[in-house]
Amino acid sequence: MGKVGVAVAAAGAAAACVAAAVVVGRRVRRRRKWGKVLGVLREVEEGCETSVGRLKQVVDAMAVEMHAGLASEGGSKLRMLLTFVDNLPSGSEKGTYYALHLGGTYFRMLRVKPEGQRSLALARDVERQLIPQHLMTSTTEDLFDFIASSLKEFVEREENGSAFPLDRRRELGFTFSYPVKQTSVSSGILIKWTKGFAIEDMVGKDVVDCLQQALTRKGLSMRVSALVNDTVGTLALGHYHDADTVAAVIIGTGTNACYVERMDAIIKCQGILTSSGGMVVNMEWGNFWSSHLPRTSYDIDLDANSPNPNEQGFEKMISGMYLGDIVRRVLLRMSQESDILGPVSPKLLTPFILRTPLVASMHEDDSPDLAKVAKILGDTLEIPDVPLKVRKLVVNVCDVVTRRAARLAAAGIVGILKKIGRDGSGGITSGRSRSDVRIKRTAVAIEGGLYTNYAMFREYLNEAMVEILGEDAAEQVILEVMEDGSGIGASLLAASHASHGPDAAQML
Ligand code: ADP
Ligand code: MG
Repeated sequence: MGKVGVAVAAAGAAAACVAAAVVVGRRVRRRRKWGKVLGVLREVEEGCETSVGRLKQVVDAMAVEMHAGLASEGGSKLRMLLTFVDNLPSGSEKGTYYALHLGGTYFRMLRVKPEGQRSLALARDVERQLIPQHLMTSTTEDLFDFIASSLKEFVEREENGSAFPLDRRRELGFTFSYPVKQTSVSSGILIKWTKGFAIEDMVGKDVVDCLQQALTRKGLSMRVSALVNDTVGTLALGHYHDADTVAAVIIGTGTNACYVERMDAIIKCQGILTSSGGMVVNMEWGNFWSSHLPRTSYDIDLDANSPNPNEQGFEKMISGMYLGDIVRRVLLRMSQESDILGPVSPKLLTPFILRTPLVASMHEDDSPDLAKVAKILGDTLEIPDVPLKVRKLVVNVCDVVTRRAARLAAAGIVGILKKIGRDGSGGITSGRSRSDVRIKRTAVAIEGGLYTNYAMFREYLNEAMVEILGEDAAEQVILEVMEDGSGIGASLLAASHASHGPDAAQML
C-alpha cells in the first residue's frame, strides 16, 4: 500500500469511528431519555401507592370522618346528609309506581310494576328525554312545566288501555341529583345548581313543591311521595332484592355513597324520631379527604385547575370524570421530559380530551401489538406511530391510575362497614380482636358506568376488598350491581312511602 492508500484507509477508519461514535451517542441519549420516562413512571407508581397498610389507614379515616360529620353540622368534609328515609322496600311491594330522574343532560321517566315476592324481573318501562338547553337557564315554571307535560304524555302512553285504579293517586319517586337540604322524605330545599343548570329563582325553594305544582297545572293526578338522591335509590333497589343490603355506592361520572345509620348515632339531629330507629344517610363521600390519601403532583394540578378547588378530593381520585385527565397529565409530563411521544402534541395539552372509557380501552387492549392503544393515541391525542415499547408504557400509566382509584373506592366501602360494625373488626371503639367477631352477611349495592363497564376497575376493587377485610370476612360482603338502581329504587321508595300507607315497607 502506498502513502496515499494508507491515508485513505486511515481516513476511512476515522470516519467509521466517528459514525460509530454518533450511533453510540444517539443510543446513549435515547437510553437516558427512556430512563427519564421510566423515572416519571416510577414516581407516579410511588405517588399512587396503595399498600394494604395505607388502605387500612384510609378505612379508619373514613370511619372517623363519618363520626365527625354525624356529630355536628360542618364537623367534617363528609356532609352526612339526612334523607328522612327510614324504611326501605322489602320486596313485597305491589302495584304501579312511577319515577322521574333529573340528572345531567337527560331526564328519565320510569314506570315499575312490582308484583310482590321480590319479583326479580321487575316489569318496567323507561323513557329518556333530552332537556332543551334553553330550559336549563330559564325559570322554574318553564322547566317543570316541560317535565310535567312529558310525564303526562308518558303516563297516557303507558296506561293506554290498562285501567289504573281510580281510588288511588299515582305515586312518584323523584330522583334529583343536585345538592338538596331535605326536611322530610318528600320535601327538600335546593342548595345550589350544578352540571350546567342555572335557574336562579329555584335556589332556596322546595323542589317537590315545584314539581307538584307543575303536575297539578298540567292536570296529572300524581303525588310526589319521595325525593331521593341517586345513591338512596340504588340502596332501595338493593334492599328490595336483598334485605341484607346496608349501603349503596355510585361509581360513575362522580362518586357518592349512602348507608343505613342508627338514629341515636346521628348526634347532630337529636329529637327526630323514626319508627324504625334508623335512617339512610347520604354521605356525599366525593368530598372525603384524609392526609392518608396517596396524592401526586398530577392530582394537585388537576384540583387547582378545576372549577371547585379543594372540593370533591376523593371523587377527583376515583370517578370517571377525572381518571382520563390524570392519565393525560402523566403522558404530557412524559412527552415533555423526552421525545418518546414525538414533539409534544397540542392535544395532550387539552384538558379532559382523554375520556375514561378510552383509558379503559387502552388498559384492556389484549391485542399482541396493542393496536387499540396506537389507534387511540393517534386518533384522540394525535400522536402517530408510537412504538410498541411506548404503547406498553401508556398501558402501565392507565393501570397505575385505575388501580389506585379502585382500591381507594374499596377502602371507602370498608370504612362504611367499619363504622356500622360490619367489617369483622368489632367496630372502631370496641377494641375487640378480629378472631372473636363474626361478620354478618352484608350486601352493598353498586351503580355507575365506571364500575359496570370497566372490568379491570371492578377486579382491582374486589381484590382490594379481600386484601383489607381478609378472606373470611370478605366472603360475607357481597357487592351487587343494581342496574338503573337510582331510578327504579326511587319508584320503589314511592311505593314504600305511598299515601295509602307503607303496607309493604320493611323497617330498618
Ligand atoms: P352518571 O354517573 O353520569 O349518572 P353512569 O353511571 O352511566 O352515568 O356513568 C357514566 C360514566 O362512567 C362516564 O362518565 C365514564 O366516566 C364512565 N364510563 C362509562 N363507560 C365506561 C367504560 N367503558 N369504561 C370506563 N368508564 C366508563
Ligand atoms: Mg347516575
